Formats: sequence, structure tokens, C-alpha cells
Amino acid sequence: MRSSIICLLTALLASIGIHGANAANLNGTTGNIFKVDTKNQCFELLKETEYDPKTDMGQSRFTVYWSDKTSIIKVEEKTNFAGIKGPVITQFQGIDAASVKAVKDHKPFEARVATVQIGATAVAAADPQNQRVEGWFTPDAGEAPRGGSIKIDDKEVKVSLRKANARLYIRQPLRPADLANGFWKTTIKGAEVNGKFLIESMEILPLEDPRASDDPALPRVLVIGDSISMNYHEAAKAALKGVANYHRNEGNAAATKEGVRNLELWLGNYQEKGGHWDVIQFNHGLHDLKQTYDAATDTFGAYNVPLEEYKRNLEKEIVILKKTGAKLIWCSTTPVPNHNKGTYARRKGASLEFNQAAREVMQKHPEILINDLANVVDSSPIFDNWRKTVDVHFYQAAEQKMLGEAVAASVRAALATPSAADDALLTLPIRFHLTQGATMTVKGQAMEVWVTAEDLKGPVLAEINRIWKPANIQFAIERAQVEPILKPDQFEKLIKNIETAKRGDEEQRGSTRTDSIGKLLDKKELHPSAHNVYLLPFIGATYQGYAQLGGTHAVVGVWTDKFSRGEKPPVKTLLVEPSPMKVGSLARTIAHELGHNLGLVHPDKAERSPVGRLMGGRNQGYELIPAEIATARETAKKHLTKK
Ligand SMILES: [Zn+2]
Repeated sequence: MRSSIICLLTALLASIGIHGANAANLNGTTGNIFKVDTKNQCFELLKETEYDPKTDMGQSRFTVYWSDKTSIIKVEEKTNFAGIKGPVITQFQGIDAASVKAVKDHKPFEARVATVQIGATAVAAADPQNQRVEGWFTPDAGEAPRGGSIKIDDKEVKVSLRKANARLYIRQPLRPADLANGFWKTTIKGAEVNGKFLIESMEILPLEDPRASDDPALPRVLVIGDSISMNYHEAAKAALKGVANYHRNEGNAAATKEGVRNLELWLGNYQEKGGHWDVIQFNHGLHDLKQTYDAATDTFGAYNVPLEEYKRNLEKEIVILKKTGAKLIWCSTTPVPNHNKGTYARRKGASLEFNQAAREVMQKHPEILINDLANVVDSSPIFDNWRKTVDVHFYQAAEQKMLGEAVAASVRAALATPSAADDALLTLPIRFHLTQGATMTVKGQAMEVWVTAEDLKGPVLAEINRIWKPANIQFAIERAQVEPILKPDQFEKLIKNIETAKRGDEEQRGSTRTDSIGKLLDKKELHPSAHNVYLLPFIGATYQGYAQLGGTHAVVGVWTDKFSRGEKPPVKTLLVEPSPMKVGSLARTIAHELGHNLGLVHPDKAERSPVGRLMGGRNQGYELIPAEIATARETAKKHLTKK
């Protein structure tokens, strides 16, 4: 009952959308089959979108009907005759002159194409002059037979497929009910009858159902891109193993003009569970920026897709993509390493113009995340050899791995980004321990914990939460109180260890700084699941804080000599510092250590970042990149469920 309503509705919508006229044009159309309704004898044909030049409206989904008279032939391509039971009517084509003579003499011959017609009963006349022979055929025995014997003029003649470039098709009639059991590409023939497109005959090719290999517990990710996305396909898929079901568009997504026509086809039946998309990354550019090149004048001509059209096409794609409800990622176009003056000419620097144009489009859609793959290529020495070539592709495993991992990181970030389904603000409790009872002295400066609970509850917490807001994570103070430091044996020695600790001690065996600090902290005061942040007067030369990766435990000093590199007596840290960061503050140090607790590590110093990062690297600041946000939120969720 339900399916019939759906079918009638889509039929109605189709007829409104196309004003009756287009349905007739479906004769000879190829597309994919969805929503098979055997009761009402119809299915949805999803095809390349055709746009009405007057309205610029496109349609790609049509409801088409079959009758009891419709012939359905399944066509499969095989490499040998295994599993075929003879005798079966088979046509051999592509017979060269020598074989034409052999056929006449009933001698063994070769063919380039064989078409097995299971269920056929009438033999067409043999026509070797036109390189075609048809007859009852029985394949040879064996595991993978490439030939057999065919009956010609009542004589059994040996035939085999050529060794190179041969094709073998198996054609088999199918009942309409079988359409529901499979995933098919079809070419339909028929005509419009009473406003409906009625199929007279159709050929169907089995496709691999992308859902078949999915882990139903994981989100579904679609990457739409050109051959660059083929280069990093396996690496990205591997990097997302256990995280997401990774899919790519069929073939090469090429330029935006191909994209707007094929996008619906690539998206498939996303309205159905199991066919839905959670994240879609899309890119076009390297095919849009192709140019003509005139060798005589050594000049590049027009772009394959002019910049304004490129922008319009991207807008068109975004409209279609947004219907899926998936989180969207725009992937920037990787560079052209050097001028390529071949058939598909590309100019070094052209990608900058296209990425700028794309950025202008994406700025209108702030919910679309950006995977800046161009920057990944520009900023890593892994691509140094690639930079010397004229080929835009990435063939080296290390290059593919780096790109694949960048794609995986941005997919993770998208999955962690709040959406209608997951807009949860994550609130994590902090317990502050303001230690008291240890005075430390460095270069004549006596130091104690001078920060108060009010400082923490007021400006420090506000600044920590400002820094973490992009991750939609906030911290709430569970408790902030003064706690006496422990006085174990050799208390003075422990304090001395901290006062005299030098930068780098941590990496050396026998280091005693963190061990000494640990012995001073009262474990009874630890909150079992909140983030425990201990404030000490000082934690060693040029150190400001440390934490446990993925843990809930951090220690910070409220005096620092970092800015004199330990040359001068320590000074009180700033509680907070107005942005942009110059020297740092206690709040930033705590926010940074909480980052370690949430699973974040220091970025590679070589990583080029235009803005200062909370986790450090070449530029210090406050920014959290999407991959860090994803990791932090994942870790935060684990912390929250641990209670
Ligand atoms: Zn750190």
C-alpha cells in the first residue's frame, strides 16, 4: 500500500515537473534503477540531469512503468564461459579474414566478441562475411574455458575467444520481480502511453551495490572528485577504517559542468536508509582550469570553464548537495606544479584563481567546512620532488598517504561538527587545586600560588571557554579550593628538584621534576572524572604546564621565566591576555593543557600555519583546527560517559 502511494506521487511530481513532454524523450535513456514497485509495475529511473535552457531547472528522477509484455534482459560481462551449460545459442562476432575462411571449411576459428543468449530458441543465420556466426554452442570443460564448439551446418566447429581484447557477454531474460533483488544500471526503450513512460524492452547491467560492503553501524562518506581523489582513495579509505564507510563517485568527477549533470546520479538514492550520506566532500578544479595553448605564440588561452561559470556551477551543486542533509566539505584544488603545455594545458598558478573563486562561494555557506588540501601540498617537503614535475597527479605512496590522511582528518572533523542531530554543547567539569604551603625560590624570587579561586571562576574560566568555543566545548568549575601541599620525606629536596629543573630534563632518564611534583600532590583530592588542574608556584625553568595525553590531570605554574628563557628571575603569569597572543597567559596555558587531556598533541613545527595555534607549533595562539576539534570532542565524549 505504502509503496504504491510513493509511486503515484513521484509519477505525479514527474508529470508536473516535465509538463508531459520530456517523458517521451526517455527512449534510449541509460540510468540507475531505484524504488522498484512490483505491485504497480514501476521504478524510479535516476539519470544524468538535463537542464531546461529557459528555466535552468533540471530533472534526473523519473518514474517509468513496465507491463507483462516488457522484455528484460540482464547483460553481464565475463572473462570466460565458466558456469555456462551448453548447448546455448551464442553469437560470435569480430572474426578476421583467416577465421572467415576457417568457418567455411569447418575448421577451428577465433572471434573477438561472444554473446551467450540464455533462453533463446531461434538461431539467426550465420553470416561469416559480416564477421558474425550464431549457433548452438557448448563451452569446453575446465575451470575457465575461453572456447568450445559451435554447430554450423550440422557440423561441430571449434571456436575460441582471441587472447587479447576479447569480450564475452551473457544475456539472460529476467522476470520483473527480479528487479527488486539487485542493483542495476539500465537502458530503456519504449514510449509515452497516457502520460506514463511505458518500457517495451530494457537491458540491465548488475552494479556492485555500494551498501553491500558497508558496516551499518558506521556513517557513510562520499568523496566527489577527479583523478586526484583516485590517487588518495585507498589511503583515505584506510585512514577512515572503523570510522566511516568510504565511497567515491563513479568515474572521474571532472569539471563543474560535468558535476552539475552527474551529481544526482553520484548521490544515488540518498533518501533511503543505507543510501543516505553523513558527510560529502566535493571538489572540482583541475578540469575547469584546463586551458588551450598556442605553441606558435607560447600563450595560454581560455579556461575550460570560465571562473564566473565555475562559481555558478558550484552554487548549483551546493543546492543539490544540501538536499541530502549531509555535512559538506569543500576540498580546495591541489596546485599545478609547473606549466603543462600539452593537449590538456594547465598553467602554474591557475589553481590559486579557482580556489579564490571557490572560497568566495563557500563564504556564502559558512556551514560548509573546508579541507585545504592545496595548503597540505604547498606546506610539506614530501611534495618537493612532485613540485619539479608538470604532472598534477600524486603517484608516490607517501604523497597519497599524506593527502588521504588530510581527507580523513577533515571527515572526522565534519563528523564531530554539531549538526541538527548532534548539536550538543559538551560541558566538562574542572576541579582546580590551588596548592599552598610550598614556597619556591629561583634567582632570589620567592614564589607562592598567588591566584585566587575568584580569579579562576571569573576571568580565567571565561578566557578558557572563549578559546574552546569553536569546538562547542565549555568547562564548568566543579570546585576551586586551596589545598595544602603534602610534606613527604625529603620535602626540601623535592622543592629543590623543581626549582633547579632545566628545560629538557623531562626527556632525560632519571629526571625528577614531574616525579617530585607528583609526590607533593594529595591524591585524595583528585576528582575521579573531572579535569583536575593543579596550580603550583613554579614547575621548572621555562616550563608553564604539563598534562597527560587523553587523561584528566594537568599541572601549571603561576610564575614563569619562559620569556627570559630562564635568564632572569620568574615573573607572575598574566591571568588572561587580550588577543592576539604576545606572551601568553595562565588561561591559555590551562586551555592548552586541557587540549592535551582531550587527546591533542603539539603540531609539527614544520607545519605552516597562517594563524597561531592553541597547541603550539611554529605559531602560538588560540586556534583549534577542524581535526583537533574532532579529536577533542571524541575524547570529551568518552570522558563524559566514564562517570
Ligand atoms: Zn603542550
